Amino acid sequence: MSKFVGAHVSASGGVFNAVQNALDIGAKAFALFTKNQRQWSVKPLEDETVEKFKNALQASGILPRHILPHDSYLINLGHPEDEARQKSMDAFLDEAQRCELLGLEKLNFHPGSHLGKISEDECLAKIADAINKTIAQTKSVKFVIENTAGQGSNLGWRFEHLAQIIDKVEDKSRVGVCIDTCHMFSAGYDIRTKEAYDKSWGEFDKIVGFKYLMGMHINDSKAKFGSHVDRHHSLGKGEIGLDAFKFIMNDERMDDIPLILETIDESVWAEEIALLYSFQGYA
Ligand SMILES: [Zn+2]
Ligand SMILES: [Zn+2]
Repeated sequence: MSKFVGAHVSASGGVFNAVQNALDIGAKAFALFTKNQRQWSVKPLEDETVEKFKNALQASGILPRHILPHDSYLINLGHPEDEARQKSMDAFLDEAQRCELLGLEKLNFHPGSHLGKISEDECLAKIADAINKTIAQTKSVKFVIENTAGQGSNLGWRFEHLAQIIDKVEDKSRVGVCIDTCHMFSAGYDIRTKEAYDKSWGEFDKIVGFKYLMGMHINDSKAKFGSHVDRHHSLGKGEIGLDAFKFIMNDERMDDIPLILETIDESVWAEEIALLYSFQGYA
């Protein structure tokens, strides 16, 4: 089995609960928040919690490289104001250290927003600088930049934005990208037909490169193509339709990375995971 599909599961009650929540839906990969994503600071992870997480993970058979922790939505590494950006960088470092404590290899984050106050280039440079500084203060975790829909002043919706950040990261072995299908579609990269799919991923390969692809978010989109609106939908219920997901499940360039559902109805995640696996061999 070369595809590792899962969902962004709840870690409520303790990060170790995420493991069982993943197993309960037949997941072979998962995403989680290692802290409350709407709070700036939380208490450090206790030794006992870390131990319980590691034991649960070991027993599950899920590998650390198939887990894609997501950072807090409050963090903006490209914030135009120094004080606010420092607050984000402190929180980002804490997220990265929590990952390392848990034995996790990747941290997925949204690049940042210029808030209409600085240029795109300046904002992208600030994001890269924040990644460099965080790399210097951590040991091994890889920083996985997520593409966005380009809502508001969020950067990262063009593949060029991702490439521009990577270009400025000094240690390229510590940086990667996560491509969200809903975001790419909403940003103007079509994947609905085989032709469109090949064209969009061809652009991705040329501009960013598949060697940086370290995870994907598998979502349909409520919002129209190119709308720059970030609204996820259940697979097959949105504007993308099921074909794109058949292409992905049969595309070996997406082997061995976490493929994470962030679809809106978690009661059907088990069905969606089974559906995705059923697509293998049919494209
Ligand atoms: Zn996402
Ligand atoms: Zn989204």
